[in-house]
Amino acid sequence: MNKDLEKINKIQKELTLLSQTIGLLEWDQQTYMPSQGHEARAEKMAFLSKILHEKKTSQEFYQLVEKLFNDLKSLDSKEKIMITKLHKDLTKSKKLPTEFVEELTKTTSKAFNAWQKAKADNDFKSFQPHLEKIIKLKRKESRYYAMPGHPYDGLLDDYEEGMTVEILDQKFSELKEKLVKLTKEIDSSQKHKQTKIELLKKDFPKEKQIELSNDVVKTMGLLKEFSRTDFAEHPFSIKVGQNDLRITINVRDDPLFAFGAAMHEAGHSLYEAGLPEKDQFSILGEATSYAIHESQSRFWENMIGLNKPFWDYYFPKFDKAFNLENKKEQWFKELNYVKPNLIRIESDELHYCLHVILRYELEKSLIEGSIEVKDLPKLWNEKMQELFGISPETDSQGVLQDVHWSSGYFGYFPTYALGTIYASQLYQAMLKDLPNIEEDISKGNLSTSLNWLTENVHKYGRSLTAEEIMIKTTGKPLDIETYIDYLSKKYKELY
Ligand code: ZN
Repeated sequence: MNKDLEKINKIQKELTLLSQTIGLLEWDQQTYMPSQGHEARAEKMAFLSKILHEKKTSQEFYQLVEKLFNDLKSLDSKEKIMITKLHKDLTKSKKLPTEFVEELTKTTSKAFNAWQKAKADNDFKSFQPHLEKIIKLKRKESRYYAMPGHPYDGLLDDYEEGMTVEILDQKFSELKEKLVKLTKEIDSSQKHKQTKIELLKKDFPKEKQIELSNDVVKTMGLLKEFSRTDFAEHPFSIKVGQNDLRITINVRDDPLFAFGAAMHEAGHSLYEAGLPEKDQFSILGEATSYAIHESQSRFWENMIGLNKPFWDYYFPKFDKAFNLENKKEQWFKELNYVKPNLIRIESDELHYCLHVILRYELEKSLIEGSIEVKDLPKLWNEKMQELFGISPETDSQGVLQDVHWSSGYFGYFPTYALGTIYASQLYQAMLKDLPNIEEDISKGNLSTSLNWLTENVHKYGRSLTAEEIMIKTTGKPLDIETYIDYLSKKYKELY
């Protein structure tokens, strides 16, 4: 092998090892770390992030990549893709000074702790200075990137390569209009009005919820030998290394909360497990984009977990655990009952993307500087009223509900909506490829679905972009129409 390539791969491996170690610290911070440990943890994480950034942006690494980038014809097709992507990544990373990265990590690590407390105490004011500092740093970050177009574009591009405000404004306004229209139609239908919530009012013992959550994770194929499930305030998943995948869930009164979170997070982990193992220390073995990552979690959570074939298999288990009086049809209706919810991760399918659009609009304005942090609770509540017709009584159920801003993840939220749309496109493509697959799903055999995803999405790693995967697998790039058709057909049949 080319000597330069060998050196590049060695550095890539070290970067992966470091970044997975930071991931492990993050996982620990959100699961088992004692609350008073946050100062020391912030120091450690900032220190490791500094080393990671220095290593990634070192002259040595950049020069090696640059040399091959200028001599692409000497490489095979896979190496070409790797060097081109590395070159783009490094050119962007090099724009951020190491001190900046260190400061951002320290700030967000402390802010995470402040957010947890503020959410528990319903005290936005105590979180405000942390968020103000983060916004200041994020605005600075976008100035460092200096991408043409909107200042938010540079941040968006970290999660979704090439995505811009110009594209999202247009896509989201179309999506918003169609979702609001469909929601109104369903809401005014007689059948929907006559549906009463009975079964979901029952008592759902927490230990049984946890049992079923563990069961579904296993049924999906995420086995104990290479994963574990723990509890965190905000469910998440993380890859600590090959064959070491962590997911977290949380239990609330709604029996579908833990169960849905388990399916969602296991979906992320199965994607990580399906990435090409031989490229585990290379950029090519990474997820191609966050929207594709979310398409995997939403595929399991929604397209599988909120539809009939899956409940043919799981209803008897739920009936046994919670005594649902053998009312499968009623249960399915209640699960999919359409009602505005204050909380994004408890939202029904029709309202979900509206939650995302609300956050996108606020983030964009915060980064461009047209609104300020101190006005966020008020603006949040006004937007809730405008989009959902309800607004929260407490900030814990409003602006403080999500972890993302405390972690500095500005530009992440849009990927939830993009991933949700992608998931519906992937499901339709799977049905076309395997017309009998719903029979498998209804028998609890989910391995055919997993294999299809691995073969059509996972195995490409980062060697194809999100759009390339979607076109190759479904024949289309992002397609709002397919998503709205799916919702429309399902909900008009139900209600
Ligand atoms: Zn997710």
